[in-house]
Amino acid sequence: MTSTTLVARREQALGAGAPLFYNEPLHIVRGEGVHLFDADGRRYVDMYNNVPCVGHAHPHVVEAMVRQQGTLNVHSRYLHEGIVAFAERLTRLHPAGIQSVIFTCSGTEANEVALRMARMATGRRGIICTNATYHGNSEAVGKLTRLGAEQPAGGDVRAIPFPEKLRPIVPGASDAELCEAYLDRLRDAIQHLERSGAGLAGLIVCSILANEGLPDIPDGFMARAAEMVRASGGLVIADEVQAGYCRTGRWWGYEVTRFTPDIVVTGKPMGNGLPLAATAASKALVDTFRARTRYFNTFASSPLQAAVGMAVLDVIEREGLREKVAAVGAALKAALTQRKGRCALIGDVRGHGLFIGIEIVTGDGSPDRERTVEIVNRIKDKGFLTSNAGAFGNVVKIRPPLTFSQRHAEEFLDAFDATLDDIDG
Ligand code: PMP
Repeated sequence: MTSTTLVARREQALGAGAPLFYNEPLHIVRGEGVHLFDADGRRYVDMYNNVPCVGHAHPHVVEAMVRQQGTLNVHSRYLHEGIVAFAERLTRLHPAGIQSVIFTCSGTEANEVALRMARMATGRRGIICTNATYHGNSEAVGKLTRLGAEQPAGGDVRAIPFPEKLRPIVPGASDAELCEAYLDRLRDAIQHLERSGAGLAGLIVCSILANEGLPDIPDGFMARAAEMVRASGGLVIADEVQAGYCRTGRWWGYEVTRFTPDIVVTGKPMGNGLPLAATAASKALVDTFRARTRYFNTFASSPLQAAVGMAVLDVIEREGLREKVAAVGAALKAALTQRKGRCALIGDVRGHGLFIGIEIVTGDGSPDRERTVEIVNRIKDKGFLTSNAGAFGNVVKIRPPLTFSQRHAEEFLDAFDATLDDIDG
């Protein structure tokens, strides 16, 4: 079957507009480790997918999945040790204040639980997010998506400009001044919610501002923002759906940007592809939520989720992936940063661990989305899969499985250099 035929069938079967990457969509048939293989047998290095965090089709995870499915899989209203042990293991990875977990099947659901939890615990409705964020696709969570300047006047959601140093709200300000300027905007948002009667239930933020394009955040902003929210009676929700699970070279993104959340949401990498997400918080917060909602989610908290979730943690620990991510990521970022000085197209290189953004700009330093898309497509033709992201769509997003090695990084750098030469040449 040709790709063109499959695209037409897909459009018929899934409806027009179902998103597809690349000018010439990739027809993949198999994955193994950091590689994806297309229908013609061509091998690509996957530098985009964080869901198969320990690598595509990891044998330990596949074996755990098959074994559990062949033994028992059922909903959660029975005693089963697996899910309890998994919740215990997961909470041990957080500070002492995070003690209990509600499992779900997607990041959206887990964020929905987090918002409801914050609203129930505080008795208030107002939620603050950043203006270029994404936390999920349900009606309530979708309200937080890329609010920009158009904010509903009387609504219970307020967006603040995401804190960043490259295109800051006060050009030329020092780091400390910039931190204060962004905190002022947070203070305004809190006051706005208080005046409107909604009050402040909480702040939800991706700990490393992944969907905003991984900007460098003014030093100390996250900790001061968390303090301000708590002083106003709100709760701090860290969305670790992208930032967590060693992506940054630390277990959690909030360790990198240095703040302490009240509620932590995890998702994508937890099940290496099996739908598995979680909202973790203090026992008191979780108890209140459970008592008020009797929350039940058919496929969540299952023996299968537990077995697979455990297997993923086993691999991360046994293969020392956190340490590897820190080392490979730092070397790759340093190599890309060197290229920034040599190539005018590269406006900035940012990120943490194996989550790196290369900002592509025009001659005057403005975001160049078109060029970014061109680069992503050309690198794909050289066998490396990335994508574009960020508030302006001009950031080449590098976020491979955690097993991505130094050798893969070197091969990618050769392809990246050749791509920039093609474009410049
Ligand atoms: N939070 C963040 C930061 C995300 O990037 C995403 C998905 N891209 C979500 C939540 C939603 O997760 P899901 O697609 O599993 O619902």
